[in-house]
Amino acid sequence: NGIIGKQDQYQESIIRRKLPTATLDDLQFVIQNRRKQIELTEQINVLKSERSSLGDQMQKEKKPEIIARLGQIKAELKPLELEAKLLIEDIYTKAESLPNLLDESVPINPEVNDITNFIHCDSEQDAQSKLPKLKYDHKDIGEKLNLVEFETASRISGSSWYYLIGDGALLEQALIQYSLSKARKRGYKMIIPPSIVKSEIIHACGYRPQDQNNEKQVYELEGEGKSLTGTAEIPLGALHSSTIFDANTDLPIKYVGISRSYRAEAGSSGRDTKGLYRVHEFTKVELFHFTDSANAAKELEEIKDFQMEIISELGLKAKVMNMATSDLGAPAKKKYDIEAWMPGRGNWGELSSCSNCGEYQARRLGIRKYNKDQKIAHISTLNGTCMAIPRVIVAIIEQFYNPESESITIPEVLRPYMDDKTVITKN
Ligand code: AMP
Repeated sequence: NGIIGKQDQYQESIIRRKLPTATLDDLQFVIQNRRKQIELTEQINVLKSERSSLGDQMQKEKKPEIIARLGQIKAELKPLELEAKLLIEDIYTKAESLPNLLDESVPINPEVNDITNFIHCDSEQDAQSKLPKLKYDHKDIGEKLNLVEFETASRISGSSWYYLIGDGALLEQALIQYSLSKARKRGYKMIIPPSIVKSEIIHACGYRPQDQNNEKQVYELEGEGKSLTGTAEIPLGALHSSTIFDANTDLPIKYVGISRSYRAEAGSSGRDTKGLYRVHEFTKVELFHFTDSANAAKELEEIKDFQMEIISELGLKAKVMNMATSDLGAPAKKKYDIEAWMPGRGNWGELSSCSNCGEYQARRLGIRKYNKDQKIAHISTLNGTCMAIPRVIVAIIEQFYNPESESITIPEVLRPYMDDKTVITKN
């Protein structure tokens, strides 16, 4: 229903996102068939109301012509109801696959993300010149100091799995505890959600088990209609599915979820196969807001500022970007990413992202709110990475490695969670 009446905006969003024309065909299908479905429903209602008044007449007098007409109505209703049911299913499937509308401030050019801020550097060149490309990377350093192990993990679980060992494992726990403590101080309530969700919930959140190239993005449990979650965003969003908050509920409701994230990463084979940058399983601390739609844009800025504060406190050189249309993902109307300079990779690497999903997920999940005048209003959802462990470890190792002493300087804010040590040396 959110699509009807906004056909032009949806069309523009699909074109600006540079999606295949099949997506425009899906939009046309939804618009045209929604009208057809409304007509069908009207026809069905007319017949049902006639059936009901004939039923009343039958209570008084059982006339043969009424009985005959009731039989006719029954025969007419059956195919109409079936047609309406199938049509609704088709409309729903196509409508569900459409992306969200876009915020006006999203850059259109698919190649260019607007840099909005730098953290601990003045420009990209500044970060790169202060941290020149290393001959070795986080994997070499991590293995040398015995913080992480890939070979045995590969034998046991396959490539892109890993063991964190000793101070490597402690660093993960410190990052989790530090970020949770900050989130709690900002009013986020902690949630540990399930790691397996039903496929329809993934769909309702605007994701597909396969991407547009039909590559597997999540691990599906065969025959179960369920998948391992790629992000806590999905079970957190679904926590209030089919809920109408009462007028006294104070929004935003802000959650911070801690979960293992499972990524099939099919289709990325050959890219970032070395080390911790792109792995199949990792811990992620995730922020999620349920809020009034009028406040969603402001809250996206708040989440971004919070993420910047975390990266800044860790002392990492990074940049913040307003992501272009082709990098948004279906549910987001606007998204910011933070990327850190990773001298071992000789490249920038994404540490976190945050998205304003507007009413897109809330409508699909059936989450609404009574206003003070007792009218029901749609609400908005937002999500953001509070701490995605492996890439932050990559950035810490590569930005803070001291080759002479073969040690890694521990960011000050993490020291209380790491036995007050200042450096990590060989385990
Ligand atoms: P996403 O939920 O896809 O927006 O990802 C949030 C954050 O998780 C990213 O910014 C990365 O830091 C991290 N991340 C995503 N995919 C992976 C992966 N396969 N391996 C390690 N970290 C990842």
